Amino acid sequence: MKILEETKLDYSDVLIRPKRSVLESRKDVDLNRTFKFKNGNIWTGVPIAAANMDTTGTIAMGRALSRHNMITCLSKHGHDPADWESLANEESNIALSFGIKDREMLINDAFAKEFAYHWDFFCLDVANGYTQKFVDFVREVKERWPEKIIIAGNVVTAEMTEALLLAGADIIKIGIGPGSVCTTRKIAGVGYPQLSAVIECADAAHGLGGFIMADGGCQSPGDVAKAFGAGADFVMLGGMLAGHEECAGELVTDDSGASHKVFYGMSSDTAMDKHSGGVATYKASEGKTVKVPYRGPVDDTIQQILGGVRSACTYTGARSIKQLPKCTTFVRVNRQLNTVFGDS
Ligand code: 5GP
Repeated sequence: MKILEETKLDYSDVLIRPKRSVLESRKDVDLNRTFKFKNGNIWTGVPIAAANMDTTGTIAMGRALSRHNMITCLSKHGHDPADWESLANEESNIALSFGIKDREMLINDAFAKEFAYHWDFFCLDVANGYTQKFVDFVREVKERWPEKIIIAGNVVTAEMTEALLLAGADIIKIGIGPGSVCTTRKIAGVGYPQLSAVIECADAAHGLGGFIMADGGCQSPGDVAKAFGAGADFVMLGGMLAGHEECAGELVTDDSGASHKVFYGMSSDTAMDKHSGGVATYKASEGKTVKVPYRGPVDDTIQQILGGVRSACTYTGARSIKQLPKCTTFVRVNRQLNTVFGDS
């Protein structure tokens, strides 16, 4: 047994210190960033992604976020390839998501010919990215699809970020335990404070010419800014995009007249009942099911998120998201701020 004594940090443990800046307005900040990947692929957009959860990774979300040049990682479940095809004729920043169970389909030519050629991004997603089986899966998919931009995860440490990049992934998804409907920290006692995970994995990835996507734990636009300040190239959001018109699930109105949508973790009882016929006897569910107040179309929320990140750039003198880490000094705070999305 070993104990790492150094304290690791979450988003709520820090604030971004303001700095003198020559930027005059938030309008001076450009949130679009151009990425050049090792296979020569170039993508320009706002590097914020909707999580590939049943509720947020929907085609409607894909359409809404694409209007802001943002990405949507479609849920692995519940999308008929025919739906994907309907999106293929539109300008959309969509990632198709796959788990190890989809290996046969991914390597299969019929799938290739009919659908997959439309999409730039593949998101290879497992709860635990630390297995050799997953590394082999990433390698196989990259060999079969060298022209795709491969997002793979999740992991939280530098050595595994490097292993997945060396296996062929382009963007490593970082985060084990921080998700708003994740209970892995409680059930398994496993996890890593997200801000430190982002800082350490970004350093490892950038050393190899790769990128990272900070996934989970953002509760407010300020957390998104902190993730970029910590070195994240992309940020993935679940809970912050939940409860909107574009999310899957019925809109339910209770007796008091308040409306909500259900939001659940992909390892929750709800998800396992839906997709795997219940929680297997050797497993415990590692996700929650919550009711989220209905928030209407996602556009207003997007506006707040992008406005928040722009504001962070203005406060620190960064003209772009790419410059934000260079301009960021974090200060430790001595209390949990418990910022709630929507608070001033
Ligand atoms: P959020 O933005 O809601 O804080 O986090 C979203 C992320 O939580 C997802 O992208 C995914 O990585 C993670 N996640 C989603 N469902 C579950 C779950 O049931 N269990 C765990 N451990 N993580 C989940």
